[in-house]
Amino acid sequence: MDNYLIKKQKTDVKSLTLEELTQELAAMGEKPFRARQMYEWMHGKLARDFNEMTNLPKALREACEERYEYTALRAVQVQESAMDGTRKFLFALSDGNVVESVWMKYHHGNSVCISSQVGCRMGCRFCASTLDGLERNLLPSEMLDQVYAITLLTGERVSNVVVMGIGEPLDNYDNLVRFLRMLTDENGLHMSQRNITVSTCGIVPGIRKLAEEGIQITLALSLHAATDEKRRKLMPIASKYSIAELMEACEDYFRQTGRRITFEYSLLGGVNDTDEDAEALIKLARPLCCHINLIPVNPVRERDFVRPKPGRIREFQNMLEKNKINGTIRREMGRDIDGACGQLRRRHRS
Ligand code: SAH
Repeated sequence: MDNYLIKKQKTDVKSLTLEELTQELAAMGEKPFRARQMYEWMHGKLARDFNEMTNLPKALREACEERYEYTALRAVQVQESAMDGTRKFLFALSDGNVVESVWMKYHHGNSVCISSQVGCRMGCRFCASTLDGLERNLLPSEMLDQVYAITLLTGERVSNVVVMGIGEPLDNYDNLVRFLRMLTDENGLHMSQRNITVSTCGIVPGIRKLAEEGIQITLALSLHAATDEKRRKLMPIASKYSIAELMEACEDYFRQTGRRITFEYSLLGGVNDTDEDAEALIKLARPLCCHINLIPVNPVRERDFVRPKPGRIREFQNMLEKNKINGTIRREMGRDIDGACGQLRRRHRS
């Protein structure tokens, strides 16, 4: 798939690093301090267009407007939960596609869940984001701008970012890594790497490459089943990489980054919530330094998965805990506005 860094023949200025922007502006005869000012406007002060950059000469702003594509997402729908204040945003991209992002308020700060692709080609059976396949990758600027637009719309600082919205982040690897570097750049929002989580369905070469980047983010692995046979029924990617290969990659990730892995385990009633499932999960998790997030499945209209019976999730968690495995039940934020991952975009399109 193309790297969408350059689109419509115009360079996407908000996806350029400070070094690249400095080179760009040098070619226009500008001094390096101008690039620094412009970068700060885009990534620190979150300017929505060149016009806001009032300490830059008007002629330069006009030349840039002519020359560059400037990403600024437009919120086309905002839903707010009456239960916990969670807000779900539907953002329009410049080509008319839409993606979802979610803003959650916790005691320790505000967290934003962003999308990494328009659609998804991973085909997980329980997920709404993949029903229509992959449309395209998101640009670094489009990932950044989900965080920026939400900061502006809520008027509050975002302290945590999770890449758990629509799409498979490791299927858009280069743009993802550029996004991570820019989000944590001291000349931009300077977010702490430790406050960022990337969730993957388990693309082994991507996990291995990410471990080498020298970035201190948390990796979350969508496991959902502890045997290859069961996992293959839920996730097509499991036919490509075995659980053994995945565990080895996770171990290496931990060794290289020192970051504890999170396993995500969506509990599907009658499918992966039995005692044997818990036992298999315990066996897998025990040798690793990991944390398990139990997620009650969000039933998707087009699929027939159901939630476990009442009390079952607690029992499952107790089994983990008895075996000294750290497991938390994901607090369900914004259930009243929800619909599972990708459902808002889907409703908007149909
Ligand atoms: N592609 C990435 C990130 C996006 S999905 C990944 O697979 O990890 C974020 C998490 O939500 C994943 O663990 C995914 O498996 C899970 N998920 C998707 N649909 C769901 C549903 N209907 N109910 C509960 N969890 C779901």
